[in-house]
Parts: sequence; structure tokens; C-alpha cells
Amino acid sequence: MDMPPSRAGTLALVGADLALDFCNTASGRGGPEAREHLQAARHVVDWATHAGVLTDQSRAAVLDRLDEIAPELLAQATTTRDCIHRCGMALAAGRQPDPADLDLLGRLHAANLASARLAPQDGGYGWAWSPADGPIQAILGPIVLSALLLLTRKDLTRVKECPGHHCGWLFFDTTKNKTRRWCEMSVCGNRAKQTRHVQRRRQAAQPQ
Ligand SMILES: [Zn+2]
Repeated sequence: MDMPPSRAGTLALVGADLALDFCNTASGRGGPEAREHLQAARHVVDWATHAGVLTDQSRAAVLDRLDEIAPELLAQATTTRDCIHRCGMALAAGRQPDPADLDLLGRLHAANLASARLAPQDGGYGWAWSPADGPIQAILGPIVLSALLLLTRKDLTRVKECPGHHCGWLFFDTTKNKTRRWCEMSVCGNRAKQTRHVQRRRQAAQPQ
């Protein structure tokens, strides 16, 4: 089956959280309209640049070593993403994530930390990664850290899954009253509205 081209470098970043945005590099999982935007290591680099994980300079440093790291980068990126996605789906359904996935996240973070340094950040200090110390960790380190901060510091009742048809995107609802429903109103919200509209018209046209 031919896969549609990747849009990794232009995907809407609507998760309000880096880790959830990363989950949204696939959609419609398991269904007939499944989309995978991380089809090659290059797409991981494209997305990371688009999402601000890599600067133009660090992107160039990663691309310099891409031939050498490509299979490992793609494998680790999808493992990381799918682990965070399973945790996010559980939270969105009001369930606790699988302990095995929490263990995996912890192990991934520990491995990424091996090539991180403490650096000045927002008036204090935070973990920072450089491609020179580990090009794969420079991409996945900040993403796993974002997932851990979500799990340990944030209101998890705000993690939601878009109910749109063939969607499954995750987001962190930052609205005051937790009223956000869609990944993007202009995509899934309007599609749902149109479907309801067509259904109403069909019902109205049916003979009584
Ligand atoms: Zn959606």
C-alpha cells in the first residue's frame, strides 16, 4: 500500500504541549485512513525543526550525521512517540497509563540524560541537549522531558483526544472551563458539523 506523503514539516502544532504535538505525527491509528508522517528519519528532523526542538544550526549538525544515525533515529522516535501516545490516550480516557509505559518513559529519559547538560533557561537552569553530544537525544530528549513534566506537574484531566473521525490527535486543553473539544475547529470540528448537517437533511427528506 502506498503511503501518502509525509507532512512532518508543516503539521499543525495544536497540542499545546511538545510531547502531545509529537504524538500528532500520526493520526487515525489502526483505521482505514491511518496517516504516518514519520516515514523516514528525515521526517523526524523536519518535524523537530518545525516544532522548534532543533534550531537551524542544530538541524544542520544532525543532518551532517543523518546517514549514520537514520535507522536508530527513526526507531527510537517512533518508540518514544508511541509510548507517549499510549500514555496520553489512557489519560484522555480517564485511565492510568500502563506501568510498563511509565517505566519505558523513565528509561528513555535516563538514557537521554546521559548526553544532556544543565544550561541557563528562563532565568534558571534546565536540561539542554546538543547534537554534538548526541544527535538522537538532541531531538528526543526535550520531547520525553516534556512528557514527564506533563505527567508529574500538570492537570491530567486536561489531556484530551480529538473525537474527530479518523483523527485521534491529543491536546492539552488550556481553556478556563476545559471546554475544548477538537484538535482544530477548522478541521475536525467543521467536519463533524457538516456530517450532522447532512444527517439532519437526510432525516428531513425521509418520508414520514
Ligand atoms: Zn481532530
